[in-house]
Amino acid sequence: MNNVYDVLVIGAGPSGIGAAIKLHQDGYKVAIVEMSTPGGKINIAPRVDNYPGQKEIPGPDLAVIFFTRLMDAGVEFIGDEITSLDKENDLFVSKGKSNTYYSKTVYIATGTVERKIGLPLEDELFGHGLSYCALCDGHFFKGQDVLVIGGGNAALKEAIHLAGLVKHLYVIHRRNEFRGSLKLVEELKARDNVTILTPYIPVEFIKDGDKLGAVKIQNKETNEEKVLTVQGVFPLVGQDPNTKFIKLDILNEWGNIPVEKNMMTRVEGAFSGGDVLPRDIRQIYLAEHDGLVAAKSIEEYLSK
Ligand SMILES: Cc1cc2nc3c(=O)[nH]c(=O)nc-3n(C[C@H](O)[C@H](O)[C@H](O)COP(=O)(O)OP(=O)(O)OC[C@H]3O[C@@H](n4cnc5c(N)ncnc54)[C@H](O)[C@@H]3O)c2cc1C
Repeated sequence: MNNVYDVLVIGAGPSGIGAAIKLHQDGYKVAIVEMSTPGGKINIAPRVDNYPGQKEIPGPDLAVIFFTRLMDAGVEFIGDEITSLDKENDLFVSKGKSNTYYSKTVYIATGTVERKIGLPLEDELFGHGLSYCALCDGHFFKGQDVLVIGGGNAALKEAIHLAGLVKHLYVIHRRNEFRGSLKLVEELKARDNVTILTPYIPVEFIKDGDKLGAVKIQNKETNEEKVLTVQGVFPLVGQDPNTKFIKLDILNEWGNIPVEKNMMTRVEGAFSGGDVLPRDIRQIYLAEHDGLVAAKSIEEYLSK
């Protein structure tokens, strides 16, 4: 077989890009496959403000910096979505929508996707008032009333971004304390068009014609219900790993990929890192760190 890569990197976020550049610099035949906008999750971050080495910067601008580094390094970039990853006769077979790729090792850095709430009408209202990305879709709701569901750092940052656009912003969270940083909570509270309601959960999405018209919420302690008339809702309640395409037996019960210290999974030659791992803190520098550790381990593995 002619076109066998030493390494196929799946996912061009900070983790995949870091690994691909290092492996390419060290002379390995490497390609990186990306199904969406290169740069990964930071493309939807209104601002990145705790990444040592960069002043506060809009996420998409940082994504461009990452991608430019990748291109300048001369790494082979493939725009494709991998729909199946398996191992046959010591080679990894990554089937994409456009092509099939063969490699001696893989680095899986596919990150996460926003978790759904799981209420009826959620899929139907997607794009009709319901969105999982404030940076991408916030401008559609200028001057309207909007609800954010969630309490982590990403949700708080997206809420602050939305507060600058919409008429009134409601933020509900299922606990009285937010999981995100106090500084972000204070920044949100300081906005005069924001109402924070805790401990509330959403119980029903209500339509107005074919669009979102309101959301019914319920107090978790008293069971009291309220109906918030809003034209937009952003469920930002966490992330699920992008691993559905993986046929290898490397996932834990939540679909994340546990790894050893050298970033190898339980299948020889399959390495992983970044947000797709089971971990509480998801940050760019951790993702980059994993990419570099994996690159070194992949080199050791290939030289055996
Ligand atoms: C609103 C928000 C604000 C944030 N702020 C900060 C911050 O201030 N500081 C900080 O350090 N971190 C921040 N983060 C977190 C940071 O963005 C992530 O930790 C980081 O991007 C993880 O990198 P990664 O490479 O592991 O995954 P990702 O960046 O998620 O990249 C994974 C890539 O894989 C691609 N992919 C997935 N499946 C496939 C497939 N089947 N085939 C091909 N490609 C695939 C995806 O399209 C994606 O581009 C923020 C995140 C959000 C959402």
